[in-house]
Amino acid sequence: MAAVPHVVVITFPFASHAVKLFRLARALAAAVPAATFSFLSTAGSIAQLQEKNQENALEPNLRFVEVPDGLVSPSSGGAGTTPPPNHMARLGLFLAAAEAGGVRVALETARAAAGGARVTCIVGDAFVWMAAEAAAAVGAPWVPVWTGGPSALLAHLQGDALRDDIGDKAASRADDVLTAHPGLGSYRVRDLPDGCVFGDMHLPIVALFRRVADQLHVPGAATAVALNTFPGLLPDDVTAALAAELPEVLPIGPFHLLPVPGDDNDVADPHGCLAWLDGHAARTVAYASFGTVVTAVVGGQEELRELAAGLEASGAPFLWSLPKEYWPLLPPGFLDLDRAKVVPWAPQAAVLRHASAGAFVTHAGWASVLEGVAGGVPMACRPFFSDQRMNARMVAHVWGFGTVFEQPMTRRAVAEAVWSLLLLAGGDQGMARMQEMRDMAANAFMLPDGGSRRNLDKLLKIVCPPSSS
Ligand code: UDP
Repeated sequence: MAAVPHVVVITFPFASHAVKLFRLARALAAAVPAATFSFLSTAGSIAQLQEKNQENALEPNLRFVEVPDGLVSPSSGGAGTTPPPNHMARLGLFLAAAEAGGVRVALETARAAAGGARVTCIVGDAFVWMAAEAAAAVGAPWVPVWTGGPSALLAHLQGDALRDDIGDKAASRADDVLTAHPGLGSYRVRDLPDGCVFGDMHLPIVALFRRVADQLHVPGAATAVALNTFPGLLPDDVTAALAAELPEVLPIGPFHLLPVPGDDNDVADPHGCLAWLDGHAARTVAYASFGTVVTAVVGGQEELRELAAGLEASGAPFLWSLPKEYWPLLPPGFLDLDRAKVVPWAPQAAVLRHASAGAFVTHAGWASVLEGVAGGVPMACRPFFSDQRMNARMVAHVWGFGTVFEQPMTRRAVAEAVWSLLLLAGGDQGMARMQEMRDMAANAFMLPDGGSRRNLDKLLKIVCPPSSS
């Protein structure tokens, strides 16, 4: 009799990656209750997931397993911890530990915790490229998952050709459109992710992107590549270019709509955002949020104050998700405005689904963009780094679904953007396009033959082949 599948899902433990991979792990575990699933992340990231999910009954066949975070020095016998470094340093320490055998050791731990059950498949955040070698070592297929913007993945995959083409001319060619590069013809040099042709080439994240691209190019290493998008969303040239670079491409998004029976995490609303939205008319409210890394002050305190003044000057009611540590930077009296609701955290996907949401001021993180699309809410994008510039360009110039701040936000630009988005959301022509995209996102999973549902079934056949469970 074939062994029961033991699937390892490993996440990159920074920014919003763990939440996305955990949702995927839960969807897979719910779909194959007979299989065993081990979710691998660092202790800190696991603690955050457990806290977020304490109200939810998790799938009984899913367990957490720790991966070393690189903070504890092995020479100290595990007793001493290095002083907490900054975000980028922590990221570097994690990657070094993962490369030095951390992933392999965690697989052993997962196997032991599962009563010795051999790992039969590894589904892993593509950033954790070492999982490919660990999978090969145990004879299991590796399915990397790219959670960010697919166009940025394409840029990294074509990194060598882009560097050959652009060399050290990124600054003088910033406005050149990348028509010579398959699938990148909608983007300018300046939209490329940091580390591709410009930026600080010494950051660990830059070395990481090159390793990920190299690993994805190794013939036969990945069985398939799962993407956080849904069929029909990306322009055909992007889809074709990705298919030419990768083995089987499986769009299984948007991840926030992945089916997890009984899950209501997405609507946990401790600050009463949804009730507040209930009190407003359809398509009249602006929502502002900058994700989990940018928060709001990456552009500086001045830009934060301009954003605040712009939201106020727009005259629209607005909801702003802003970590509490930044509240003292807001103008005096701002928190008492009648039209304003500032919260440290919002159930964003549910906020953007709410009928009264009419404009979204965002950093254009890919999950945020997909949640905006799924809610049919047009976006004003202020991208800062990573894939955000390409995502913002896709929103405004490919889909025509909003605008981009090409410069730091000013009060006037924010107010004008909010007005124009609310006008778009209220107008017939804008609504037709938005409804079309919103329906496409919903149907990807809701229809029995929806594109993402079919791809999820394909993924399940790789992860748990029918003969094994
Ligand atoms: N998010 C949320 N509430 C907030 C702020 C953010 O639920 O108040 C979620 C948001 O819905 C999204 C994720 O955090 O799913 C941010 O992911 P994204 O890829 O947009 O940006 P990142 O944080 O990775 O920069």
